[in-house]
Amino acid sequence: MLYKNRHYVRALLAVCVLLLAAATKAYSQADSIVIVYPKADQTLAAVDSTFVLGHIPGRLIPEAAGLVVRINGLDFPVHETGGFLAWIPLSPGNFTIQAYCFRKKRPPKSPTSSANSLAEAVISVVVPQPVRSVSEDSLVIVGDYQPPVGDLAISAGEMLEVRFQGTPKCQAWFSIPGVVDSVPMSEMSPRKQTYWGEALFGIGAVPESLMITGIYSGYYVIPPAVRADSTRVLYHLNYSQHRQFKEPSAPLAMESGYRVTLNSNKYPITVRFSDSVQAIRVRPLAGYNILFQPKGVEALAVGAEGDWYRLKLSATQFGYVSKSPVEGLPFGLLPPMTYIKSVRTYGYSDSVRIEIPLAGMHPFKVIEEDSRTIRLQLFGVVSTTDWIRYDFADSLIEIATWDQLEEGLYELRIRLTHDLWGYDCNYHATTFCLTLLKPPADIHQLRGKTIVLDPGHSSEPGSTGPTGYTEAEANLALAITVQEMLSLRGAKVILTRPDMRNLPLVDRPAVAKSNHADLFVSIHNNAQPDGVNPYLNNGVSTYYYHPHSLKLAKCVQTQMIEQTGLPDYGLYFGNLHVARPTQYPSILVECAFIIIPEQESLLKTERFRKQVAKAIANGIEAFLEEYDDGK
Ligand SMILES: [Zn+2]
Repeated sequence: MLYKNRHYVRALLAVCVLLLAAATKAYSQADSIVIVYPKADQTLAAVDSTFVLGHIPGRLIPEAAGLVVRINGLDFPVHETGGFLAWIPLSPGNFTIQAYCFRKKRPPKSPTSSANSLAEAVISVVVPQPVRSVSEDSLVIVGDYQPPVGDLAISAGEMLEVRFQGTPKCQAWFSIPGVVDSVPMSEMSPRKQTYWGEALFGIGAVPESLMITGIYSGYYVIPPAVRADSTRVLYHLNYSQHRQFKEPSAPLAMESGYRVTLNSNKYPITVRFSDSVQAIRVRPLAGYNILFQPKGVEALAVGAEGDWYRLKLSATQFGYVSKSPVEGLPFGLLPPMTYIKSVRTYGYSDSVRIEIPLAGMHPFKVIEEDSRTIRLQLFGVVSTTDWIRYDFADSLIEIATWDQLEEGLYELRIRLTHDLWGYDCNYHATTFCLTLLKPPADIHQLRGKTIVLDPGHSSEPGSTGPTGYTEAEANLALAITVQEMLSLRGAKVILTRPDMRNLPLVDRPAVAKSNHADLFVSIHNNAQPDGVNPYLNNGVSTYYYHPHSLKLAKCVQTQMIEQTGLPDYGLYFGNLHVARPTQYPSILVECAFIIIPEQESLLKTERFRKQVAKAIANGIEAFLEEYDDGK
């Protein structure tokens, strides 16, 4: 499930508890409807509708076909298992969900009446207020708009971006005490508040997109001469001169929620990665740009935003790394600088290794340009490459060429004679090694291949169906059936977890690595994020991360649709932990929607498990058959 905001307003919580106490007094637990999602007191996303799922008490299941569940006045069918899935409108604030179970023949006429109710439940949830515009009638500064993730440290030549929200159609400016006064700001055109969950998983429309007015922006290019140490930006707002008001007031001022440090003598500073693997991101908390940087890599930090260092990787490339797994080196130390003179390749039966001797551990990035072209980028490196020595006995590498893309960015471009299977990057002391892995022997046969199946979740149960069947249980049952089918066809199959024992997400790729997996398939079942209607949006979907896993994802998705008969819910690039390892093709399959009563029930059947098993086995076989080994 998605991350939920846990910042409750204490007063609201107290109200929830009182409401709950009042509600539970009326009936005993065994007789009540069980609401599985949302949980009582949960803070939902700021959306206008949500699904509610749960089940009726066991004593009523024999007559389930004749029952309805009425939630906040809307009627929903009860599945024969006793489960139900409702879709109801929400309003912001403390929101009450009231559920009653009635006989279809004798529901009360009033949508809010509880007369003749056979069972009931009441819970309260919190729906955050979406950002709204401020009235033009009074002068108000609401506060930061899209602020940095924390305090900023920036230097001369960089631009401080400032945005705040307040009364629309006013005059706005900002100042930095001791640095600059009266920097003019302009009101931006109204912003639309979109919700990613609906855009990606829904029908694509934003159900109630709000146009937000009164957002002002301005910027200040930091000159060399100024200094500021942990200073807050001051926002100013006043009525425009041409607007007439009865009571003209003094301009308003408000401090930014973050502090700025300008031209600090703490930067630049060389930092060394002190964690085993580390990602460099595009922005703090934003997209992963560079993966798996090992302990010991050094780079130049030129500033900071919150708990993130801003790294200058080359003339124009920047990235952000979390401060906690990184140590600052003594002032004056520079990151390594290498002139690359030579590159050499070494062929082995299962791989080919490209070795580049460097002066230190430079950040690196691997780009899969297409199925036969891989680009290795090394930052902080200068080419004097006069020599590339090929292992002539090896046939995987067709040609390697180099380019200095810009100052501080060296690229080795490797063209292969057949499709990339996987790769591995590491440092041996300061020699950088890129190992391109060859496909397993007898590539077009499933027989003898090592397949690691990953039943998603464990102690953390993942999504839960209306009757309480957890994704962790459903995924395991499916994986065991897939294992049986693959084993019958001659594959060696390993489960990341063979039972309900706990296995953290981060430990799963290690199981694949230690078993020398040829392929990795993670098995899950789906739910929707808040605000997306599961009745309209459901089906089977498959996810990949690296391009070399795309064909496997397509083959399995094709088979999943064919074998299960469920709707095609799409093929996805997904930034998923288990899909990120580079050494083998890796995919994640979302088989059914466990939150839909019919599909939760399907997941408990041997027939459906066998359909999924056949689909995954057929999909892997199709992928292996189609794999282009250049022969
Ligand atoms: Zn899952």
